[in-house]
Amino acid sequence: MLFRIKQFILPIIIFSVFGLSGCGRAEIAPAQTVTGTNGILQVHFIDVGQADSILLISPDGESILIDGGNNDDGPEVVSYLKSQGVKELSAIVATHPHEDHIGGLDSVIQSIPPKTVYMPNVSPNTRTFEDFTAAVNISGAKKVQAKAGVSLNGPDIMGIFLAPNNSSYEELNNYSAVLKVTYGKVSFLFEGDAEDISEEEMLRNRQNLKATVLKVGHHGSKSSTTSEFLKAVSPQYAIISVGADNEYGHPTATVLDRFAEAGIEVFRTDQSGTIVASTDGEVIKFDKNVSTPSASTSQGLVELSNVDLRGEAVTITNRSNTAVNLTGWKLVSEVGNQIYNFPADTTLTPGGSLKVVSGEKARAGSDSLLWTESNIWNNDGDPAALYDAQGQLAAKR
Ligand SMILES: [Zn+2]
Repeated sequence: MLFRIKQFILPIIIFSVFGLSGCGRAEIAPAQTVTGTNGILQVHFIDVGQADSILLISPDGESILIDGGNNDDGPEVVSYLKSQGVKELSAIVATHPHEDHIGGLDSVIQSIPPKTVYMPNVSPNTRTFEDFTAAVNISGAKKVQAKAGVSLNGPDIMGIFLAPNNSSYEELNNYSAVLKVTYGKVSFLFEGDAEDISEEEMLRNRQNLKATVLKVGHHGSKSSTTSEFLKAVSPQYAIISVGADNEYGHPTATVLDRFAEAGIEVFRTDQSGTIVASTDGEVIKFDKNVSTPSASTSQGLVELSNVDLRGEAVTITNRSNTAVNLTGWKLVSEVGNQIYNFPADTTLTPGGSLKVVSGEKARAGSDSLLWTESNIWNNDGDPAALYDAQGQLAAKR
């Protein structure tokens, strides 16, 4: 049914549903995600190389993060979430404790606290898992064991875990929390790294596996996506989160052939970068190569910690543990459309703050940069936005 809708009505609906903000990436503007997404569920398959990290923003603006990439990906994932206006996570799903799934989650939890953390009941003796567990404990988030039958519902989306179905496995991958999220007629099945053993259990359990979009298990390894499982899910689209030229040979020809034979459209993060699916519950569209802030910068960790419109002072704080060079960065008063360019070689020390001041009484000081002696900020409300040297939004308040 959905397939027919897609084939015949998609072009019309795309323009009616997404047409207001134009085609392309306009509808994924950060401002919309802060206040809700106008009836659209967004699923961001963030390009974190050979790893997984998926952000869901529900139609009412709630955010769920499934995995957080490798250890090194933490700052990049934080940066991406902030660029999408995410200030709080309703839930984090840590599919299973391999580094390429939970590695970056400690950074995420420290910057953007989750209300609830869902994870399978398995505790490997690794440094990465220790770091993750410590961050969860410090955050005070509620911990819920992810297993088949547990639900993760939002006000307008339905989520249910379909795996794990057992309490012990030889292979850590099979502990993967497999989540199915449904919004209207469109559904997503997020497999983590679940392999054939878990897929077989899901089939035996007679759960409704059918989904519009399959986040392919284990980066396209041939240990996952059996023919029987694929037939049961019967997706229109398959998303593979995978690094270019990875040492494992993912995704494998065996799995890609299965998608080709079944006429399933495949999107890969190694080819398309970050992929964003948007759906109104009827139809789905994909944006590819959505820009992902570089992992080498700390921009996501620089915050506008205070905006004093009357006092004409904006405080910028570096929450990361590395110095940030603000050369080429800009502070923008959105209402007045006025722009302050940071002087070359302005450096923000780790944990440090500085103020950008304006107005008659404004003076430069050891921690204050003088913008102008004119008034800049509109006291009736004037969002401040901070852009990095690449012109990407680093913070907004
Ligand atoms: Zn993995």
